[in-house]
Amino acid sequence: MSFFNSLGRSMTGRQQRPGPKRSPTPTSGTFGSDGQIAPASPASTSPAPAINKPLYLCSPFVDAALVKGNFKTIVMLPKYVDVNEWVATNIFDFYQNINMFYGIITECCTQQSCPSMAASPSLNYTWINQDRKSVQLPAPTYIDYVMTWVQNLMDDETVFPTKAGRDFPPAFPSTIKHVYRQLLRVFAHIYHAHYPQILHLRSEPHFNSLFAHFLAFGREYELLDIKDVKGTANSPVGIGALWERWKENGILEG
Ligand SMILES: [Zn+2]
Repeated sequence: MSFFNSLGRSMTGRQQRPGPKRSPTPTSGTFGSDGQIAPASPASTSPAPAINKPLYLCSPFVDAALVKGNFKTIVMLPKYVDVNEWVATNIFDFYQNINMFYGIITECCTQQSCPSMAASPSLNYTWINQDRKSVQLPAPTYIDYVMTWVQNLMDDETVFPTKAGRDFPPAFPSTIKHVYRQLLRVFAHIYHAHYPQILHLRSEPHFNSLFAHFLAFGREYELLDIKDVKGTANSPVGIGALWERWKENGILEG
């Protein structure tokens, strides 16, 4: 099933997805006039130092999960469900869950602790502002921009239609791909910078399962590029190694 080949299909009568409102929209200059976001690109800031294996790659944490086995079955499109509808609903759930996890570690993610949106010792994501300039932002600011942008998209009937008789817009797949890439970055930052807090809360089985589900879903519906998961040789994404490990263990498809 290709999500991107599904354009033109429509769905009616979907249930309204409720959700909490986030903080006020960040600086309007951050967003394009069409409500889209320019994809940020990774930027290397410093040579990669020799590092110890991060905790999230160490046993037993790396294999901690709520769900045993492969995620393929839970990402498959249920019979009679429109693929756009399925993707929209899952995006909503991923957003809510990431938002919840970030909410409980937010006190530890400050301008001081996280002056950049780091995803590994050699990778800081940059934000593309409205002037098409690539800028460094503190992680809490970057994440607030992402989460507010996604919330606003989900509240927008023209992007995420919920009323009967409304179709998904033709740009829905590409919009969702942008959303997916940015949510991946939030995962990448939490794993890289805040895994000790996840462990402290004994939430690593939940968080790992959420992330594995996110990866499996993204691959199934072509929302996720492997290069975004793994980064480059000079600037690898920390969680790229997690993806490899879970593939080897049969949790994720190749
Ligand atoms: Zn942080």
